[in-house]
Amino acid sequence: MMILIPDRIVKPDIEREVFDPDAEIVAPCAKSAAEIQDDTWRRADGILAWHEIEYTAEVLHKLRPCGVIVRVGVGYDNIDLEAAKYYGITVCNVPDYGVTDVADHAMALLLALARGLFAYDVHTRAGGDSWQAAGPLRRIGGAGLSTLGIIGLGRIGTAVALRAKAFGLKPLCYDPYIPDGRARAIGVEQYQNLRDMLTQADAVTFHVPLTNETGNMADAEFFEAMRMGSLLVNTARGGVVSLDALANALASTRVLAAGLDVLPIGAMEHYLIRDWKKQLPWIRGRLIITPHCAFYNEDSYREMRLKAAQELRRVLDGQEPRNRIT
Ligand code: NAD
Repeated sequence: MMILIPDRIVKPDIEREVFDPDAEIVAPCAKSAAEIQDDTWRRADGILAWHEIEYTAEVLHKLRPCGVIVRVGVGYDNIDLEAAKYYGITVCNVPDYGVTDVADHAMALLLALARGLFAYDVHTRAGGDSWQAAGPLRRIGGAGLSTLGIIGLGRIGTAVALRAKAFGLKPLCYDPYIPDGRARAIGVEQYQNLRDMLTQADAVTFHVPLTNETGNMADAEFFEAMRMGSLLVNTARGGVVSLDALANALASTRVLAAGLDVLPIGAMEHYLIRDWKKQLPWIRGRLIITPHCAFYNEDSYREMRLKAAQELRRVLDGQEPRNRIT
């Protein structure tokens, strides 16, 4: 058997624990599909896919019919699922490895924004010692910061809701796809209309997949509906938030501060990110960016790789996958 890990992994030691001695593992650490020869794609019995490579119809066509791809992670927006179905390719993911880790990261961003940590850090580094350097902070759970709007009440959104409660925040949610009763069961106030929820939320956090519906969900209209001086956190997918609209909302202080773990493609060329890199005064201390690392710690990283390899092994051994997408 040949297992192909096209991107990201240099040393497939964890995967070897699952496949040795039955399979050869090829890990070219490519940045794009074009870097991998057609013959290598064709030889692969199964693929462990990270997020560097787009699995377009053209790439999937190179694989064996009825092959299998396991996404080492949750989101599968880099795989053309319609084409995968057409070619009979099984696609699976690993949905549970990082639920609490991403929720913790979202809360860490939210708390850092609410407590002005980054603004204080910049101030203190420059020799300052004023407790007012981060602007007029509001008490977490107090009048000005009492509600957290959660967009997407799935696994991570639910874990965020439970954490928010412990900090005295009232969790609200917008998720039209959860069954009736889910939000009520965990004490989250559910809204049928996104705008209605935004008008009630002092802070908003995203936990949706990237789909045709959620792409650029946070647009100009979205920010207009938000409360003045809100906080915004995105650990879901960069494409969910329009950077143009966010930049305008930050400039008008509709959004007081934002924490982003994910950015849309091409974001580094955007003036918001350029100004943030230069630490220009208008954005200094008001924008925190982390490098799509919300999932990461040594435990979750190992669990993700191990579970992905075990899922692939299960399918190649002729068993039903635990987490089938197609
Ligand atoms: P999940 O599938 O359990 O939950 C997603 C929720 O979003 C579902 O309840 C679904 O009904 C809801 N949803 C879908 N479309 C919606 C819409 N248009 N409006 C409102 N709600 C909608 O997924 P999860 O495990 O909670 O993960 C959420 C997202 O977090 C993933 O899709 C992935 O993009 C992202 N993620 C990021 C990291 C990271 O390191 N930053 C790690 C893991 C996952």
